[in-house]
Amino acid sequence: MEPHPGDVVLVPLNRREEVGVVWDAAADQSVPDSKLKAIAGIIDTPPMRPALRQFVDWVASYTLAAPGEVMAMALRVVAPGIGAPTTGWQRADPPTEARITPARQRVLDALAEHAPRSTADLARTASVGASVVRSMADAGLLVPTVLPVAPPFALPDPEHPGETLAPDQQAAATALRQAVAARAFSVTLLDGVTGSGKTETYLEAVAECLRQGRQALVLLPEIALSSQWLERFERRFGVAPAVWHSDLTSRVRRVTWRAVAEGAAPVVVGARSALFLPFPDLGLIVIDEEHETAFKQEEGVVYHARDMAVVRARFCAAPAVLVSATPSLETLANVEAGRYHRLTLPTRHGGAVLPAVAAIDMRATPPERGHFLAPPLIEAVRQTLARGEQAMLFLNRRGYAPLTLCRHCGHRMQCPNCTAWLVEHRVRRSLQCHHCGHAVPIPEECPACGAAHSLVPVGPGVERITEEAAALFPEARRLVMASDTLPGPDAAAAAAHAIAAREVDLIIGTQIVAKGWHFPHLTLVGVVDADLGLAGGDLRAAERTVQLLHQVAGRAGRAEAPGRVLLQTFSPEHPVMQALVEGDLAAFMAREAAQRRPGGWPPYGRLAALIVSADDAAGADALARDLGRSAPHAEGVEVLGPAPAPLSVLRGRHRRRLLLKTRRDVAVQPILREWLGKVAVGRGARVEVDVDPVSFL
Ligand code: ADP
Ligand code: ZN
Repeated sequence: MEPHPGDVVLVPLNRREEVGVVWDAAADQSVPDSKLKAIAGIIDTPPMRPALRQFVDWVASYTLAAPGEVMAMALRVVAPGIGAPTTGWQRADPPTEARITPARQRVLDALAEHAPRSTADLARTASVGASVVRSMADAGLLVPTVLPVAPPFALPDPEHPGETLAPDQQAAATALRQAVAARAFSVTLLDGVTGSGKTETYLEAVAECLRQGRQALVLLPEIALSSQWLERFERRFGVAPAVWHSDLTSRVRRVTWRAVAEGAAPVVVGARSALFLPFPDLGLIVIDEEHETAFKQEEGVVYHARDMAVVRARFCAAPAVLVSATPSLETLANVEAGRYHRLTLPTRHGGAVLPAVAAIDMRATPPERGHFLAPPLIEAVRQTLARGEQAMLFLNRRGYAPLTLCRHCGHRMQCPNCTAWLVEHRVRRSLQCHHCGHAVPIPEECPACGAAHSLVPVGPGVERITEEAAALFPEARRLVMASDTLPGPDAAAAAAHAIAAREVDLIIGTQIVAKGWHFPHLTLVGVVDADLGLAGGDLRAAERTVQLLHQVAGRAGRAEAPGRVLLQTFSPEHPVMQALVEGDLAAFMAREAAQRRPGGWPPYGRLAALIVSADDAAGADALARDLGRSAPHAEGVEVLGPAPAPLSVLRGRHRRRLLLKTRRDVAVQPILREWLGKVAVGRGARVEVDVDPVSFL
């Protein structure tokens, strides 16, 4: 059989067969014919279409990743030789008496969230051998069951009766429908205050896309936290959409991939990796919460899904819709330059008003010694609970305390693999590194001086705030929302239902509470440490803090009862606090723009980071110095560094950073390629390239 461009093929490579795609680039004449090998076979799967191949090339070129690495993201699921199994396992109910080893426990845990699963799938998720699964079946701990044939890919009905849109929503929806019907590339920012009904509005664009017979993709920053979104989609269209994220079982993943490729999944909602799905006819991409940093992938191919979504939309001749109540400065600058359209929903839906925001000056009304909630916040929570309404305390820090030190000798408990303190998790009785996962039991005595019971927690995490709240409001029903207390989509969905059903009075949470939740009975939000995000001091620290706190604040007062937000801060006069209190985000963003423009910082200039790492400090320094010496010199180009990375050791690797800063009209990729070509990278060393960096750690 003659292979054609786009065909997915098996190719011999070393001693193995690898999956590849026939590319239609000009042949590489530098490789002699004698070195070439024949294709081993063509895989029976839909070919990769030109628009996706173009996109893969574009992403590789922009991010400086190897094209094969990007292609692999689009192909991950079609590895040959694995037939989809039809039987799986679920937990025996009631459980039988049998020895539960840690490995067996992991299997049971894996089944708690996603019953049922196949043997291979269980073995992979629980990191056990297939024999463990079989022995558990023999012991009666697992019972066989038929796996569902396929996820539902029913056709969402665009004419299914939805909500009646308010006039502002109607106007925006009409504009979005027109953009979809035009079957042409465009980018629109849909910006509206929290609770203004943006979702309902852009679902009309999805409906139009269905009428046009094209597929729609909706990207959400954290799909595991999107149960309410999925329920809303179902209400609007009568059926569930296809979902795509890293938690899917390999079987569902495979079936979904194929359904997308065959056009049988009309709407996909997914995490950033959904961008590489093989849509034959993509007619709309929505990026909800476009300001979210979760859209940036920091490992492997380093890319920003929001920016790449716009590129994919261009290759598909489809509109992209960016949605946010707190748009990024990047997007606002594109609006201002006339590259993006803008639609605005200025008021909350159904007459709800935006919450009143006030700062609590922690210097004037400090908490009691050793406590973290100031008297005005405590009083506000008390009143809210007394009215039978819900309150939320927000602190963007997991665990009990961010630092543990010895009060005898001052020793600080540090991660052996990273430049980071170990975070106490009291519930799990351990000290954990939030960067590499290293965990140790809390020691009885100080490892430095040997003093007994001398280790003390410093500063709060959500666990500690929960403890304080339990003492203050013992009768309130509490719920902690953090990634480690709500480990999966089902747990998060259950929490959301419990809150909506008023089974909870007080919610204590990390940044996951800031995600688009709609909790109608929540009227008070207390921010425990509003200054927290400002400490890092990177380029976007202020912007990100305003966005995060405004989103958290936006959870309050979304129904009839008005909401109230209190920010505990040591600098109420800080422009970030002022912007939140006055509710004037536009003025704040204008000020940010005015600060970044003169220095040519993004979005008014370009950045690319080089992250050097090596097994030892000397290796990292040597390579960083080499890069520094061969740094490019040109008009409008500047190199900052090398300097130790803030996380100067991460997972045992020593890290240095350099930053390339250029004018906006300079293309950074050719400069980076030439620069990297001048430097030899030795054994154990590595240079990672991060174009348009979001993190500076
Ligand atoms: P946003 O995404 O802008 O924060 P949402 O889309 O979550 O706002 O809308 C807030 C609430 O108002 C949701 O519960 C939503 O279901 C409801 N809502 C929005 N538009 C309408 C409408 N036209 N009719 C009825 N309810 C609506
Ligand atoms: Zn670590």
